[in-house]
Amino acid sequence: MQIFKGLFNAFYPNTCISCGEIIEDGEFLCDSCYEMLPEIDYTKNCNRCGIPKKDCECKNRVFYFGGTAAPFYNDASAKSGMYKYKFSRNTRNAEFFSQRMALTVNNVFKDIKFDLITYVPLTAKKYLFRGFNQSRILANQIGDLLNIPFADKLLYRNKGNLNQHEIKNPKERFKNVEGLYYCKHKVTGKNILLVDDIKTTGATLNECAKQLLINGANNVYCITGLISYNRKDNKDGN
Ligand SMILES: [Zn+2]
Ligand SMILES: [Zn+2]
Repeated sequence: MQIFKGLFNAFYPNTCISCGEIIEDGEFLCDSCYEMLPEIDYTKNCNRCGIPKKDCECKNRVFYFGGTAAPFYNDASAKSGMYKYKFSRNTRNAEFFSQRMALTVNNVFKDIKFDLITYVPLTAKKYLFRGFNQSRILANQIGDLLNIPFADKLLYRNKGNLNQHEIKNPKERFKNVEGLYYCKHKVTGKNILLVDDIKTTGATLNECAKQLLINGANNVYCITGLISYNRKDNKDGN
């Protein structure tokens, strides 16, 4: 067995999920990418909008979700690891993020008992083009890790409107997703964990949470792999 393992490793060495450097078996990241992980500290962040308390957005917006959290900021080695996953469907990247996201759920939402876990859908066109929904895979794995039943095809996305990343103004982003998502089933009284890859303004998560609430959900909490936040302009006490 050892010989086969040795041969396999020679042909398919284990690589860093962020930079691609060859690393030891069982590791996800090389030392320097590991050190550069932009981990979020929830003693300093608001666990409703997810960003540092000093910039908390909760008073400026109506958020339908009860909270949102992520293991990392959308930055450095976590950012490249997530982008590699989205565009190459690397299973080890998915494994890394779902493990870290599950830990964050246990840490930030430890008092909530979730009845089901679901994900932000793609448009049918995008799904066909990419061949997979990165958030669906993460939701499925996090559900397994945390023992939360996985609800497939609960939310749907209409086509139309601009892609969110084409819109720079946060207010416009919230407007752009209005009516874009719908929920196909009643989820009366359920506490739902909603999964997506990245939270930017939170507009998409907010609209999905709203649809779940309209369909009877008791509460919706969001977990993403990354949260976008400009740490460079906010150097003092992140
Ligand atoms: Zn690396
Ligand atoms: Zn907040």
